[in-house]
Amino acid sequence: MSSKINEFLEIWWVLVSLVFWGPRVQGAFYNCTQPGLVALTFDDGPGVPETNQVLDVLKNFNVTASFFVNGLYNYETDLARYKSTITRIYNEGHQLGSHSWNHTDLINLTRTELKNELEHLAQVVRETIGVNLTVFRPPLGIFTEEMETFVQSEFGYTVAMWNVDTRDWATPPDGVDAYKAFYATTDNHHTAANLSCIGLHHDPLPMSAPLAEETLTYLTQVVGLRVVTLAECLEQEMYVPVVGGGGRVSVEGDHLHFLVLVNFVLISVLTLNPNLR
Ligand SMILES: [Zn+2]
Repeated sequence: MSSKINEFLEIWWVLVSLVFWGPRVQGAFYNCTQPGLVALTFDDGPGVPETNQVLDVLKNFNVTASFFVNGLYNYETDLARYKSTITRIYNEGHQLGSHSWNHTDLINLTRTELKNELEHLAQVVRETIGVNLTVFRPPLGIFTEEMETFVQSEFGYTVAMWNVDTRDWATPPDGVDAYKAFYATTDNHHTAANLSCIGLHHDPLPMSAPLAEETLTYLTQVVGLRVVTLAECLEQEMYVPVVGGGGRVSVEGDHLHFLVLVNFVLISVLTLNPNLR
């Protein structure tokens, strides 16, 4: 074999090894993995009584959604109410996700501060419903790749963003028109059932429940759509059981280091042993 072919094969091997065995960072999700799915996500709660009104609407439509909760509302003033709303969300089959504890701009925090922000919320959720969360949405939608890697390795969180924003906090809100505009991109080549959507709402607002109702009334009229949780949208587990002391058992880091080591040894053997080339 000529040395050029050898060189080519070595480079090819290194590239293939990196792709299959190297450390992988999963990117943030902006839509579902399958067409035809729509995941409604509600941020900044739980707020009482607004979150309960949203839950009533979801129940009426017999659909499940996802709630990115934080510690801003009710927690300090009425812990029992805070916890009972979290419990209701969980019991009715919806997904809870982390939106940090204080809803601050996380990119200015040190790693320790960031870890505390996420752990505080994770701990309250564990105490309340006895599970670990799997999805995270950074407050204000601001995050860096480094933060994404950190929340994945430390907490096992997937970063879930959105591709439809109802701007339900604005006066007037975009509301259901945001969905209508999204699905209006359809034509003969691109039907609504070919699109997948993660919609951004907020649940502690007076308009939250009426907008959820308006949205679901519209979505159920669009042929071929199915309203799902983020777990189904992203084909992931909704929750992870709490093991032992509470924190998630993380084997991912060690597993990854082992694979990288195997990768290195294989490349070395193939490079140094001329018989194998
Ligand atoms: Zn928020």
